[in-house]
Amino acid sequence: MDDIRDLTIEELREAFRAMGEPAYRAGQAFAWLYRKGATRFDQFTDFPRDLRVRLEERFSFGAVAPEEALESPDGTRKTLFRLADGEFVETVLIPSGERRTVCVSTQVGCKFACAFCASGLGGFKRDLRPGEIVGQLLSLRDEFDAAPTNVVFMGMGEPLDNCDNLVKAVRILNAPEGLGLAARRMTVSTSGIVPGIERLGTLGMQINLSISLHSADDEKRGRLMPVNRKYPLAEVLKACRNYLAAGGRMITFEYILIRGFNDTSGDADKLAGIAHRLKAKVNLIPFSPVRGLPFAAPDAGTCRSFLARLREAGVAATLRQSKGGDIRAACGQLAGKTGVRS
Ligand code: SAH
Repeated sequence: MDDIRDLTIEELREAFRAMGEPAYRAGQAFAWLYRKGATRFDQFTDFPRDLRVRLEERFSFGAVAPEEALESPDGTRKTLFRLADGEFVETVLIPSGERRTVCVSTQVGCKFACAFCASGLGGFKRDLRPGEIVGQLLSLRDEFDAAPTNVVFMGMGEPLDNCDNLVKAVRILNAPEGLGLAARRMTVSTSGIVPGIERLGTLGMQINLSISLHSADDEKRGRLMPVNRKYPLAEVLKACRNYLAAGGRMITFEYILIRGFNDTSGDADKLAGIAHRLKAKVNLIPFSPVRGLPFAAPDAGTCRSFLARLREAGVAATLRQSKGGDIRAACGQLAGKTGVRS
């Protein structure tokens, strides 16, 4: 049985037509599902009773269930969700002033095995369906009675390795009949999946694109990220240029600062060169500790010098104050069930 939250509004219109119902029901259903927080079909009070029963028979409802939550004194909150098949994913809510950013997962586990990240340590299980991606956000919205203002696809998994479902989730969140979340409030982060970047460019939506760069040197990047062998830096950067040429929003480079590996002024200069050419922003993230991984963050002074060097070169750069480290909710620490217990 299909989860009704897997369907875009166009698909839902089609489904209603196939049931012999008017297409406008899709807009009404979207309002119930995404605005009014309905969790059962019998809450669709402007639908005739027999239609509600037929929906009940045709669709399942609600794909993620909160299992456990941890909250950090800095306000960051990590929720472990159980999926219908018993798998788990983690989602992080990051409040900051008026903003409520949700960091959602797109896969159970990850195939890409980046040397610094916890999400790939347990291997890859499966893609999340659109309803499971959107469901993480809806569940948090209902729990706190406030809709997230921003969504970052930066949780477990590689969003552009699950591109069809990611794009559907983006369209579902974006639909004005539902949450109506503006594309410019969504950010897709990728380890550099070239066909995915190009596909995102063709959508013509104002989604923000983040590239997990971590080194501006092809050989060093390859040591950290096996995906660099398939899509070397030059190809990733070419895809970024095409993305911008297709009218995409500004690109951000995520750069984990790792002590003694990519934190010298020479590394900063190389990074500045690349960022400059693409007019990209740089977001520096001091390495978050992951149990069993042999890396550390540089000291605070080194991080600040690296930042200053980028800025002197005219690059818009920030040093991220990583949040939620105390509850293992920081960048790179999400690992599903094992993550919460570790
Ligand atoms: N697969 C996508 C989405 C995950 S985003 C991607 O790679 O972009 C998660 C972000 O956290 C990425 O920028 C990732 O590189 C970063 N990250 C992973 N492990 C980290 C760690 N131990 N410390 C700090 N950042 C980390």
